[in-house]
Amino acid sequence: MVQFANKVRPGIEGIQPYSQGVTDDELMRRYGLGRVIKLNANENALGPSPLALEVIRRELPLLHQYPDGGSEALRVAIAEFHGVEAGTVLVGNGSDDIIKLISETFLNPDDEIIVPVPSFSQYGFGAAIMQATVRGVSLGAGYEYEVDGFLQAVTPRTKLVYLCSPNNPTGTILLQSDMDRLLQGLPQDVIVVLDLAYNDYTTRADRVVETAKLLSDPRVVVLHTFSKLYGLAGLRIGYGLAHADVWQFVHRVREPFNVNRLAQRAAQAALQDEAHRVASTNQVVASRDVYAALATRLGLTAVPTDANFVLLRTGDGIGTMKRLMARGVMIRAGFLGLEEWVRITFGTVEENTVCIRELEALLRP
Ligand SMILES: *Cc1c(COP(=O)(O)O)cnc(C)c1O
Repeated sequence: MVQFANKVRPGIEGIQPYSQGVTDDELMRRYGLGRVIKLNANENALGPSPLALEVIRRELPLLHQYPDGGSEALRVAIAEFHGVEAGTVLVGNGSDDIIKLISETFLNPDDEIIVPVPSFSQYGFGAAIMQATVRGVSLGAGYEYEVDGFLQAVTPRTKLVYLCSPNNPTGTILLQSDMDRLLQGLPQDVIVVLDLAYNDYTTRADRVVETAKLLSDPRVVVLHTFSKLYGLAGLRIGYGLAHADVWQFVHRVREPFNVNRLAQRAAQAALQDEAHRVASTNQVVASRDVYAALATRLGLTAVPTDANFVLLRTGDGIGTMKRLMARGVMIRAGFLGLEEWVRITFGTVEENTVCIRELEALLRP
């Protein structure tokens, strides 16, 4: 394949393929485990919405037919849910798809994007494939947002600013007041992508939310996903809210059938499943106290979290992750700049109990 090396587009060579690490199947084989507890990808501990499962069953005989390419019915449902016009909704094959589409639509080589550090890796990936430059702005000592740093990072080449609230992997939120101040200070031609993948897990009054006023700013793109609260990560579906003017360009690079039939139907049903949403949030809120108590017992630092996961300082993140993995519990570590930390997704009551028992066995001083 060496003969193709000089045919590859500039910039592609430097990209490492995304690795999700060891899969649960592989882990079971490796250690001969009968069961693995998966607390490494911020998935919903309660599983998919039962209403979604029901419509998936009904949709199965239609899988020989292409989906609705524009996800019309779902877009209308999402628009109703948020009280916005359907033209302001774009549906994607996960938020990952939308991040890539936005990158392909707006980024030229040497353009710049601004991202929080640490945060979600997909923002930088979108820039890398378009040969744009990533400027990272560090979060504060407690991983809180410091808006001035973002404003100072702006140059004439800045096209996109990414914000994630609650932020993955820190669990810290962006304040509405900081969002307002950021928009006030940003040039009129810079797009702000506000990723709210975990925002339904918090009710804090000072958190950023997509108010009608915020969405009326043509620079604002808000991302939501069905992968977390709605428990549909395996189907791949997410959506964005923004001015229809922004989407009219993004639609030009979107694949004609970017969201499959099952995902569209399931998402629409899940959106109506208030009971599943409430149960999922309650389980997350209860888990926060359980892990905060663990951190206190072990004398470890935990970042106060508004998400469905917690960042815990165990000293050797990868080491803790590997030892826990051998005991059948998968967590995440290895985030750049967070070598001493692990990220644990909240599980069911029983999964949390096992995870905490194993952590205490490993880490008790
Ligand atoms: C999990 C996650 C998403 C969801 O991505 P999908 O592609 O919709 O599964 C988006 N943003 C952040 C920050 C996430 O952690």
